[in-house]
Amino acid sequence: MLIDDSESYRRGLARLLGQMPGVTVIGEAENGLVGLALIRGLKPDVVVLDLQMPVLNGVAVLRAIREQRLQTKVVVMTSDPYMETELRGLGADAVVLKIESADKLLPVLKRVATAPTNVPCIFCGEPQTQEIAAANGTDLERWYECPHCSRRFAVK
Ligand SMILES: [Zn+2]
Repeated sequence: MLIDDSESYRRGLARLLGQMPGVTVIGEAENGLVGLALIRGLKPDVVVLDLQMPVLNGVAVLRAIREQRLQTKVVVMTSDPYMETELRGLGADAVVLKIESADKLLPVLKRVATAPTNVPCIFCGEPQTQEIAAANGTDLERWYECPHCSRRFAVK
């Protein structure tokens, strides 16, 4: 599902994603409020979320998704590389820079869509929902940083 206030951007992305095997764009929203309502109704596997939008922005949408425990993975598109840590802290499954979106978004989406949810921390047993930067792992292992004990571990 796509949430972005730029219609041309949404159209381009939808076309691109539509060509990916196994990907179906089931909904599009032009602002966060419409987007949240659609997420509740459509229960998408993955939401691609823009940050700067009218009515309800991306950060507010991300907070709401996590506070309301909506079962969807969130890939945030941002033009600010310094936002990544903050966005991950808020529960983003991945952060992609808008400028590199075309070639970088597709593998990230695939990875996020197939990521297992709630992998328990191997140290303290707390469930994880977040993988740390994909650059730290390969296709064979996924890295997590526990929000409770702050330790990192890999799962194969
Ligand atoms: Zn832990």
